[in-house]
Amino acid sequence: MKKRKTGKRFLTAFYCVIIMKLFTAPALAAGGHEKDDLIIGVPIDRCPIFYMNEETGEIEGIGADLMRTAAKNAGYSVSFISVKEDTLKSALDNTKYDAVMPFGSAIPSAAEKSTIVSQNLFRTPFTLVTVGKRTLPRLNNLCVGMLRSQTGVAETIRSLYPGIDISMYETMPECVRALRENSVDALLHNSYVWSYVLQKPSYRDLTVQPTTMFSMDFRVGTLDTPEGRDIINRLDRGIIAITDTGRQAVILDYTTRHLYRYDLSDYLYRYGWVMVAFALLSVTFTLFVVKKQRDLRRAGEEQMRQIMEQDKLTGVLSMDGFRRSVEVLLHDHPDIQYLISYNNIRNFKFINDSLGRSAGDELLRFWSQKSMEYMTDEEAIGRISGDHFVILRRINGEEQMDQDERDIINPVRTYFVDRGTKNSIQICSGIYVLTSEDYRNIDVDRMLDYARVAEERVRKTRKDGYEFYNPEQWEKGQRVTYICSQLEDALRSGEVQAWYQPQVNYKTGEIIGAEALCRWNHSKLGWLRPAEFIPILEESDMIFELDKYIWERVCRDLRRWKDQGDIRYVSVNLSRCDMREGRNIPSHFYNLIRTYDLDPSQLRIEITESAYVEKPELLIRTTVKLKEFGFQVEMDDFGSGYSSLHMLKDVPVDRIKLDLKFMSGVGDSEKGRIIVSHIIQMARSLGINMIAEGVENLSQASYLESQDCFEMQGFYFYKPMPVKEFEAIMEQKNP
Ligand code: C2E
Ligand code: MG
Ligand code: MG
Repeated sequence: MKKRKTGKRFLTAFYCVIIMKLFTAPALAAGGHEKDDLIIGVPIDRCPIFYMNEETGEIEGIGADLMRTAAKNAGYSVSFISVKEDTLKSALDNTKYDAVMPFGSAIPSAAEKSTIVSQNLFRTPFTLVTVGKRTLPRLNNLCVGMLRSQTGVAETIRSLYPGIDISMYETMPECVRALRENSVDALLHNSYVWSYVLQKPSYRDLTVQPTTMFSMDFRVGTLDTPEGRDIINRLDRGIIAITDTGRQAVILDYTTRHLYRYDLSDYLYRYGWVMVAFALLSVTFTLFVVKKQRDLRRAGEEQMRQIMEQDKLTGVLSMDGFRRSVEVLLHDHPDIQYLISYNNIRNFKFINDSLGRSAGDELLRFWSQKSMEYMTDEEAIGRISGDHFVILRRINGEEQMDQDERDIINPVRTYFVDRGTKNSIQICSGIYVLTSEDYRNIDVDRMLDYARVAEERVRKTRKDGYEFYNPEQWEKGQRVTYICSQLEDALRSGEVQAWYQPQVNYKTGEIIGAEALCRWNHSKLGWLRPAEFIPILEESDMIFELDKYIWERVCRDLRRWKDQGDIRYVSVNLSRCDMREGRNIPSHFYNLIRTYDLDPSQLRIEITESAYVEKPELLIRTTVKLKEFGFQVEMDDFGSGYSSLHMLKDVPVDRIKLDLKFMSGVGDSEKGRIIVSHIIQMARSLGINMIAEGVENLSQASYLESQDCFEMQGFYFYKPMPVKEFEAIMEQKNP
């Protein structure tokens, strides 16, 4: 009996085990025991369906929440991981995930394995988006763009609408670019995702096409294996258990949240102009602050400098200030003729002792003010100690010293007498007249030393008055100022004339041309030598006025001769000082010959050799341009000492004027002959013509002839002569 009971119990237990085994077999098959945790792979690029919550690091969204509820209903706990595969199809083959979602329907995996899908979790509306409002053709004829991660959806759509053309893109910006570039008619995505994506400010031009809406299912998928089937079966039970209200609540929760977060590009797009304005404002403000600080610093420095450079008592410059001002003025005005005076009150100590220091101070202030009344901004005055004043004064003509005595010195002399005391003031002054060297090499202390030497001379020999350190310079300065002041009148009145010195061919005896040389017969000073007034005009920058005048006279004469049937050739001088950047000399000459209707070859332009050494680039440029216009260019005064023979290879002149004046004893001494013969040979080898000028005697002419140099100019043949005489000679030679 006991045996039978025990056998019954054993059988019951056996059957129970068998029944339990039958029920749990599929779940155990997966890993040897039933699974309660599911790992589901999802895409996270489709907020609000699936997205990564940056704060929690968890995957959230409508899909995630609904799935979590379904899994819970089925007794699963679920965790989501982001699929790394390009498409959900390929994710199906990855055993890392127990299931993958979402799928509209079951599609084969990328490895062509069959799959199964769960019940539908919810219906996801799909809609098209276009740029602006557009009327679209029917879905079947449409070209749409989609995200590559939606390959599964795309396949479902292709099966639903066989005529549709779908292009896949990696990212949403790429989709939008394709749409904007008209590569596709519209973009297709789930409406919930659009409601999120279209919050991006720069997508404001995109419009949802509500008429083209359709819905897709949203299911979990996995490989069609016993384990897969078990998972799907269990999940289905959980999905069915989700109520509609619960489903709507989840959808409403996510679609009403403002999940879109602006990134930098959104801020730039939305608030770009504000940022630019802000940046501009900041830059302007910074610049303003920097400038203000710099101005303040400069003002401070300037104030400091003024304190250092100003004499407190009188308001004139201190020694430092005077030195600096003189340097600046001489540098800026090399054309102004200046003198420097050193002035000293001989009886200043007596004045201080007898009338008091303040009376002395008053006198110094008076002197300063009186001087400044008559001085311009181009002059300077300084008090370098006690009663010693130094002045940089512009030379304004012969009368100037007397004028200054009258206007400034005498009132100082009689300052106290005029105020009712008997103390007359004695002033000793020394004057240094600046030379051109002083402008090139500015040394204020040296100039003051010279002025002081002259002042000492006065102090030692007499009571009062002034003396020049260099009276001859003063005379010269006077003459320079006078000559410069006279030029304009001289050109207008005809005191300045163009004379001609004929040039000959020694072999044939013919006159082959002439050089125009200016002559000035001044009404008071008589004949002025070009050697004197040309350098003066060059230094005071007036030579161009004279040269323009001479060139014009020459052109007029050439024109007159041309009208009489004589084509003549004249060389004119172009000073090195005429040449300066911006003054277009070649055009000037070209306009001249056009005005007078001459051939450019009739005008030969002489440029002194020294000019080529001083400003080679400008000179070479000018020469080339002149030659382009058809003028002949001659290098004047060749051999004057500047000769750098190699220069000839760079300068494209037509003719060299070898000046015998510079070759002492040429024609007479053996050395001179050798030099001349070599220069002639060299010019010949270079293919440059040669004329010898300054030919004074037969022996020079014969020697030149023996060297095959036949063109000559010099007193031996003709001296420079007025135009009438020149015409007479030409008439005689060439009737
Ligand atoms: P230059 O251009 O070399 O002119 C030749 C100078 O030599 C002239 O002096 C002429 O009178 C002088 N001369 C001619 N044959 C002989 C001779 O056989 N022996 C000697 N000892 N001298 C002779 P001038 O007219 O006194 O001119 C001197 C310089 O002044 C000229 O030298 C030229 O550089 C310059 N000059 C003359 N007129 C003008 C002008 O209108 N404009 C410019 N910029 N410079 C001119
Ligand atoms: Mg000349
Ligand atoms: Mg010459």
